[in-house]
Amino acid sequence: MSHAYLDYAATAPVHDEVIEAMAAALREVGNPSSVHGPGRRARARLEAARRALATALDASPDSLVFTSGGTEANQLALAQARGGPVMVSAVEHPSLLDAAPEALRVPVTADGVLDLETFELLLARHRPALVSVMLANNETGVLQPVREAAGLARRHGALVHCDAVQAFGKMPVSLAGLDVDMLSVSAHKIGGPAGVGALVLREGLEIAARQRGGGQERKRRAGTENLAGIVGFGRAAELVGRHDWQRVRSLRDRLEGDVLGHCPEARIHGAAAPRLATTSCLATPGVAADTQLMALDLAGVAVSAGSACSSGRIGPSPVLLAMGVEETLAACSIRVSLGWGSGEKDVDRFLAAWLALWQRKGGRDPAARGAPLSKPAPMAS
Ligand code: PLP
Repeated sequence: MSHAYLDYAATAPVHDEVIEAMAAALREVGNPSSVHGPGRRARARLEAARRALATALDASPDSLVFTSGGTEANQLALAQARGGPVMVSAVEHPSLLDAAPEALRVPVTADGVLDLETFELLLARHRPALVSVMLANNETGVLQPVREAAGLARRHGALVHCDAVQAFGKMPVSLAGLDVDMLSVSAHKIGGPAGVGALVLREGLEIAARQRGGGQERKRRAGTENLAGIVGFGRAAELVGRHDWQRVRSLRDRLEGDVLGHCPEARIHGAAAPRLATTSCLATPGVAADTQLMALDLAGVAVSAGSACSSGRIGPSPVLLAMGVEETLAACSIRVSLGWGSGEKDVDRFLAAWLALWQRKGGRDPAARGAPLSKPAPMAS
């Protein structure tokens, strides 16, 4: 049984064009640092991918540092605080929060948006060396006022980093447009391979390497480049403009509308804030997230919960707790994330499985008394 895949925020399917480009790169020998012909051809492929990614991000190719993913890009950015105080939003990805446990966390509103007033007060009081605010949240899809935050932070002398891993590919992302010094992106969220990312730098910004050795990436990140991965990232970056996110937004909105129609007590976290078209963070009161994940998985629907603790059981998401969501409701929240390949059938299959579970758990469905809100497809066989 193939699943209805509604977990694009975790990782997206790799585009066929990307697989072909990577396979072609893997078939050729050559280290981009070697001066002979094969080396120069490898270098040419690397630089072509760099230009493609830079074009997609409205950045200069020279200001792009390839990394092993979004996590490494975030941590390379954090290293630029060079021991000085760091300030981050309270809803950042664990690759920032766990890497900077001492960082001052700026609160967010109940909708998950950075509280700019408090942010400014904290900037004046703590004068951080580095500030990091994500563009789109990985659990809720909520967008942050990065440009405004960057302007304020810069006025207080801080370097500004933005984790754009979830946003890139789903909305226009421009380093200059966001007015930040550093921006993280990752290939596997845009139809490229996992294990490749980049930190994009404002032109002229000198950074300290975390990884030293062979001097690759202009001495900003040593280690022989993951050429096939980078080639795949470049190809995926060329394809970001072709997706119809308005179509995906309509699907996501239908899914949310139908859930709320059947279960008015359900909650969509961050629904009142500007959000990505793809993501829905949805609480079904009284039904634990792990129960939902298992029931949906059995019915052939792949979704995620906010966070999983080491035992494999799901704990309440720190993002939702930071938004002031009650712990019991946070523990009943799942993330449904759509992508370019999602269709009506995927939404129907989710709704059929979710509704069956909701009714098994004794949920009262006001829609059951009248006509159904939508016609869900039969459950997966
Ligand atoms: N930042 C955000 C917002 C993410 O969603 C993720 C991955 O889920 C990362 C960073 C980490 O990226 P990677 O998986 O490439 O290390």
